Amino acid sequence: MSVLLWMIGFFMSGCQQTAQDQVSRNAGVPASVHAQADTSVKSPVGADYLLGKFNPATHPDFVKVDKPYTDRAGMMLRKETFEAFKKMWAAARADNISLRIISSTRNFDQQKNIWETKWERFAKDAPAPKDRALKILEFSSMPGSSRHHWGTDIDLNDLNNPSFEAGGKYQKVYEWLSAHAHEYGFCQPYTAGRAHGYQEEKWHWSFSPLSKPFLEEYKKTISESDITGFKGADLAPELHTVEYYVGGINQDCQ
Ligand SMILES: [Zn+2]
Repeated sequence: MSVLLWMIGFFMSGCQQTAQDQVSRNAGVPASVHAQADTSVKSPVGADYLLGKFNPATHPDFVKVDKPYTDRAGMMLRKETFEAFKKMWAAARADNISLRIISSTRNFDQQKNIWETKWERFAKDAPAPKDRALKILEFSSMPGSSRHHWGTDIDLNDLNNPSFEAGGKYQKVYEWLSAHAHEYGFCQPYTAGRAHGYQEEKWHWSFSPLSKPFLEEYKKTISESDITGFKGADLAPELHTVEYYVGGINQDCQ
């Protein structure tokens, strides 16, 4: 079990209603067009959804992520996210680029496992609670504040920035995503050089036609007092979890 938790912890980083019409509207339309056209429709989904307090496996708007898009079992995404990803995957493949989903939706309980595993692991190096939380927050979200709750965000290929940089195994993958992901509605929320929030994550991509309205709703309806129920949660206000971590993302994703 501890090995499993450790592995989940390694898959770090740190939502509902209808969008059926979006999928049909998307058919045959250049993706860059519908990525813009759909940003107004999907809210509200409600606080529990935004905080990850639901089970994606039984949620009607979620589907299983399966081969050849992933090697892992049991992953789920919003169906609109997965449909858009499949189009992007096929276009990438035609350009000899291989995309693989290694993490997708994680609900509150799963994120709590990741957070509390790291809370124990970093206890020795960072005994002061605030230091420890900041260390975890380099790449992992507090439960209740992760974009992975929403079914809109995915981690691709590898959880290591240098792999996507010059000379890295996935350099061409990152170059392709930087040039083309927006055509399918995907943006990179955690880019380099932002004022606040998590460190850069070249592997984390978000389906913005859904995640933009979810983020808007989150900022309007959720405050740090809603982020509770795990070790270190009392630090959420002091660390500006909503403003800096949920809100501190690349402009392209807002
Ligand atoms: Zn991620």
